[in-house]
Amino acid sequence: MLQNKKNIKFLLINPTSPLWRVNPNQRPINSSVFRFSMLPSLYVAASMPYYVKTQILDEDIEPIDFDTNADLIGISFMTYNAPRAYEIADQFREMGKMVIFGGYHPTFMQQEAIQHADSICIGESENNIPIMIKDFMAGKLKPFYKSELVDLKDLPVLNRNLLKNNAYVTINALQATRGCYHHCEFCSVAPFNRYKLRTRPIDQVLDELKGLGRSVIFMDDNIALDREYAFELFTRMIPLKKRWYSQCEIGIAEDDELLQLARRSGCRGLFIGFESLSQQSLSNWKKYCNKEKDYLELVKKIHSMGIGIFAAFVFGNDTDEADVFPKTLDFLLKANIEVLQSTRLTPFPGTPLFDKMTKDGRIFDKDWSHYDFFHVVHKPINMNPETLHSGTAWLQQQFYSYKNITRRLRRASRYLSPNILMKVVLPINMGYRFKLSKYEAFKLGNSFHPDIN
Ligand code: SF4
Repeated sequence: MLQNKKNIKFLLINPTSPLWRVNPNQRPINSSVFRFSMLPSLYVAASMPYYVKTQILDEDIEPIDFDTNADLIGISFMTYNAPRAYEIADQFREMGKMVIFGGYHPTFMQQEAIQHADSICIGESENNIPIMIKDFMAGKLKPFYKSELVDLKDLPVLNRNLLKNNAYVTINALQATRGCYHHCEFCSVAPFNRYKLRTRPIDQVLDELKGLGRSVIFMDDNIALDREYAFELFTRMIPLKKRWYSQCEIGIAEDDELLQLARRSGCRGLFIGFESLSQQSLSNWKKYCNKEKDYLELVKKIHSMGIGIFAAFVFGNDTDEADVFPKTLDFLLKANIEVLQSTRLTPFPGTPLFDKMTKDGRIFDKDWSHYDFFHVVHKPINMNPETLHSGTAWLQQQFYSYKNITRRLRRASRYLSPNILMKVVLPINMGYRFKLSKYEAFKLGNSFHPDIN
């Protein structure tokens, strides 16, 4: 019992995985270009009662000191780093420390996670943390704490000094909205947010923005989903003269007024989930917001506003055959997509896809460390797992070849500013090329032959 202690120390760990662990000799390309401010951890720290001193430890960039004098250990994790989280937790518990978990994986896999922890924060942290700490201090920590969705007007103020600034591409990240009401089958963001979109008072967002640097990242799940809100936010951001990046759905390009406002408010890059060129695949995944969209035309409109595109494509849909890879590459090059995230379909716990594939007995690998987009863990229908694996790698090799990087930069120089090209597009392309080439899975691309497979 810690009732008599005036202050306690809380060590909050983000566990690493072999894919993302930083090799100090390879910096900066290998590390910071993919690393954003750890917003969820900052919110945990900001939700702590005044008497708790929080240290955030990102294991991707620094090792864990198991001799820490912290009174309580917190571990926040996704699925791919769950095995490492369990290892860390087991070690701390053997040493007599209490461990609490939070994040997507423990929220969706509570019974599995509690085998390795004393308590689990289910859902968002901001409401739960003060209660958990109070119970911990009283020696009455319960195994599960389920949070209602947080009202975003009550979000606490963040202390970004808790992060090692130079280890991240930026610590100037914030949120204006959380969640998404679409029901894309593979998405864990939507169920975590109970298929609801919440917006934060715009005055608060603007206040936070004023304290940040010129370039910021909105870590929103779908920033323009509430058009009225986005319209007001973008309008009121114009005088701030920011440069911002976020994610949203392709539909923004059908709304000329909103797209222009996004540009005028400083939008210079959007992460967009295209997912597939096939209408059938989009239907299978219930990605209805992308249906019947003329991707080429819409990309052209976004580019014409001087906004770059970070496109996400997913392979391994039931309708995908081996020709999906050359066809998608053809589109990517034609559309001059600036950055690509191409992933093997991964049924994450908590998603409808996971439940469906589990029921159908199609998941053959439940080693969570393989749920990193670099492994195939399910049986596709129209190709074998090896083709899915090597075809995705082939596409990555082609997209990030020096020839194609040079070509896309040259073409993008017609609509993106030199600053965005050299400081954003080029480093991310080189970072991807460098990082991907370190993985075994990337080399599998050599065994994929688009004309034969
Ligand atoms: S639109 Fe994006 S955030 Fe929304 S459910 Fe689909 S994948 Fe998830």
